[in-house]
Amino acid sequence: MGKPDADLIILGAGPAGLTAAQYGARANLHVLVVEELMPGGQALLIDALENYPGNIGSGDIPAKSGFELAQDMHRQAEAFGACFMTETVSSLRKEGDRFTVTLGNGETLNAPAVILATGTKRRPLGIPGEEQFRSKGVSYCATCDGPFFKEKKILVIGGGDAACVEAQYLARLSSQVIIIHRREKFRAQKALAERVFHNPHIEARFNTRLLEIKGEQKVSSVVLERTDTGERYEEATDAVFIFAGAIPQTSLVPDARTDEKGYIVTDQAMASSVPGLFVAGDVRATPFRQVVVAAGEGAVAAHSAAEYIEAY
Ligand code: NAP
Repeated sequence: MGKPDADLIILGAGPAGLTAAQYGARANLHVLVVEELMPGGQALLIDALENYPGNIGSGDIPAKSGFELAQDMHRQAEAFGACFMTETVSSLRKEGDRFTVTLGNGETLNAPAVILATGTKRRPLGIPGEEQFRSKGVSYCATCDGPFFKEKKILVIGGGDAACVEAQYLARLSSQVIIIHRREKFRAQKALAERVFHNPHIEARFNTRLLEIKGEQKVSSVVLERTDTGERYEEATDAVFIFAGAIPQTSLVPDARTDEKGYIVTDQAMASSVPGLFVAGDVRATPFRQVVVAAGEGAVAAHSAAEYIEAY
């Protein structure tokens, strides 16, 4: 086997991958990052990253958005020497003690260590009308599509952090936001749930399930069901924003050990059950998915990968 193409290949350039790239390059590794879209991952969709340490803004200047922070992280990683490629990865294989990454264009890259930082994708509900009205009133991204629904009636589905944060964002665009949650209380962090309760533009409707999305050319109503009484009713709406959780992007590593929800299990050093494969960010089994956590995990993963390569 000849010289590897890189010391470390990082798959995914969200906050975990970008931080790993910076730490890996600073540790003098030849780092290649492969990302199918633009650097930033799901953080690109965050309006103001107000809980990222130090990102407080000042005076009239708000906290940086996820987009701005991701751009800074990307520039920082490149400044330390990390190389970035915009490509889809079609497979990841381990032969002997080396990984081979096959790109969508057929090209292959190899390295002794890989960091998987592929994150998650939004979970669809799988109900009638959801697919038919996607981008015609059904959305999974408030910052992308919210501005199309200024002062329109908006339904937000879900009871987690994403639903509560995004409902807040949408309530700046419209005074008619209804958050629909199937249980009797939110799953979201208390501080985020409190903000929803105190927002005069948001109505929280609990014990309610979305059964169907209806319309002609675009969404015009939904069918809802009370989970406690079984009562069904139709509610007029212009938009349905769905935040029903996430699906970890693990298809490249079918052999790595996962938890019962499909997230990859690692040790404290971010090492997976596959030697040389480190994992960081939302795709990892972790109790708290935040940009700052992903960044921290990226730093640990790069440090561990550097130690692994040193001993290689
Ligand atoms: P999540 O925490 O898994 O919450 C998903 C919500 O969707 C839950 O309330 C769940 O209901 C509901 N749901 C799932 N399937 C459903 C269905 N078929 N019908 C109706 N409702 C359904 O996911 P998330 O809110 O997308 O957040 C993902 C991760 O990112 C979390 O770890 C979160 O902490 C993190 N995050 C953090 C922030 C922040 O800190 N600012 C912002 C966004 C996301 P049940 O409660 O009944 O299970």
